[in-house]
Amino acid sequence: MQVKLATSRGFCFGVEDAIEIAEAAIEEHGAGNVVALGPLIHNKQVVGKLSDAGLDQTGSLESAPSSKMLLIRSHGAPPETFARAHERGLHVVDATCVLVKRAQSVVRQLHEDGYHVVMIGDPNHPEVRGVIGYAPEVTVIDRGSDLEKALPFRERLGIVAQTTHSPEHVADVIRQILTRPFREAKIINTLCLEVTRRQEAAAALAREVDVMFVLGGLHSANTRELARICSEVGCRTYHLETLEQFTVAMVVGKTVAGVTAGASTPESVIVEFVRKLEAV
Ligand code: SF4
Repeated sequence: MQVKLATSRGFCFGVEDAIEIAEAAIEEHGAGNVVALGPLIHNKQVVGKLSDAGLDQTGSLESAPSSKMLLIRSHGAPPETFARAHERGLHVVDATCVLVKRAQSVVRQLHEDGYHVVMIGDPNHPEVRGVIGYAPEVTVIDRGSDLEKALPFRERLGIVAQTTHSPEHVADVIRQILTRPFREAKIINTLCLEVTRRQEAAAALAREVDVMFVLGGLHSANTRELARICSEVGCRTYHLETLEQFTVAMVVGKTVAGVTAGASTPESVIVEFVRKLEAV
């Protein structure tokens, strides 16, 4: 089978930095002495490798002994997490992606400038839970939000979005927000260009192949978005979390397959999958 790869795919600099910071912290403070509040990234192999190296990814802020280092993931965390870690005497290693940090400071600034902050994003995603902590009152609008109920009347709106959303989706929600009553709206683009490039490359590839494979965690927002975009283009798309989920039936009758991957998927996984597909 012929296989084509998306020109932009896989690991982003934010994830690469987070892994490097985690490895350096383990090296400096010793195996078992660094705690992350959940899996570092949405990739089981990388998470397993870091656990083997001694990163505790199951800890909680309240249960971590004060002798340990607390690693903040690339998704970031609200200010209360840093404050609580400080109160508990935990030292913090901050691996928040610079683009997430920018979104956090944009939210803080909008609030200080008198805007009611509206964040377009998934309220359950750790990045969104962290970013909204930088203003006392934020309205989160997700895909299915009923805007009439979700958005209170405020004269001045400051609009931002989860870094991994697509520009089309964000533009669509903004258009709906602007149909609501308000006096002034300020929109700050907080989208991640790394993600946007991957989305554009995935859509372009999905238009020219018979079937698309999107590799990455089922809970990874940017991977799910890639799969959604490829499906929307009209291409049969499979989102695979592990290569074992692939079956030959997925490519029966197909000649050309396209492959892309979310920002937490290492290139080695992509290469292994391409070999597997080419052998079909
Ligand atoms: S996807 Fe973008 S915002 Fe998220 S960690 Fe990677 S570079 Fe940062």
